[in-house]
Amino acid sequence: MTTPRIYKTEAIVLRQRKLGEAGKIVTLYTPNYGKLDAVAKGVRRPKSRLGGHLEVLTHTAVVVAQGRNLDTVTQAQTVESFGGLRADLHRLSRALYAAELVDRFSPEGAESYHVFQLLLATLRRLVSAKNVDTVLRYLEMQLLGLAGFQPQLARCVNCERALAAAPSHFSPDAGGVLCPSCGPEGAGSRTLSLNALKVMRLLQSGSFAEVSRVRVASALAQEIEMHLRAYLIHVLERDVRSAAFIDRLRREDFWQPAGVSS
Ligand SMILES: [Zn+2]
Repeated sequence: MTTPRIYKTEAIVLRQRKLGEAGKIVTLYTPNYGKLDAVAKGVRRPKSRLGGHLEVLTHTAVVVAQGRNLDTVTQAQTVESFGGLRADLHRLSRALYAAELVDRFSPEGAESYHVFQLLLATLRRLVSAKNVDTVLRYLEMQLLGLAGFQPQLARCVNCERALAAAPSHFSPDAGGVLCPSCGPEGAGSRTLSLNALKVMRLLQSGSFAEVSRVRVASALAQEIEMHLRAYLIHVLERDVRSAAFIDRLRREDFWQPAGVSS
């Protein structure tokens, strides 16, 4: 879509970096224009009208003026601040991961309406979901689908036979599941339990309501997370930084919000 010289849009703030004395460059995700960087002048000054409306993870309504190089945010108004995320480090770390993942998957100008809706729904779910990791697995699988990288889970990626009700192999290199006769193949392929396959299929084609009704024991959740992470690293050609932070929180069982500043 061609962007007009001055335009209004909803956006979710994915990240920001400092610019000059008091400004920032904010990376916004919008439903119609995709991902874009825009300058926010003076937002680091305490009295800035924009500042509080452009924090990372804020769902905001902005007015943007097109510039020769970078666009400039001229107005911003918070739509949802997701305060419930910011008060809980476990939820916050997952929300930051969600924003980073969307950022990594989104070249500028790519199709964005469904990705925007998915990210918004994910942030809302993370505020109150009992199982925040299920929210992330659903985001990962749905985002892979929207970006055209959905893993093949219906049949063997090699011989194309339907998969029998038995353990198989998941191979990021091959792009999905290898049946017991074709796998394992290559260093990256790992055993895939039947239950993990079933849950991954549901993550791919079910609604979030359906997914959240399934009870997933912690060993199974770990297995699914491992497969999806290996696949994401393969697709993105690198790790997602925020995932390491979530791992650290789990190891240290460290959840006091006061720890954010350290
Ligand atoms: Zn096969």
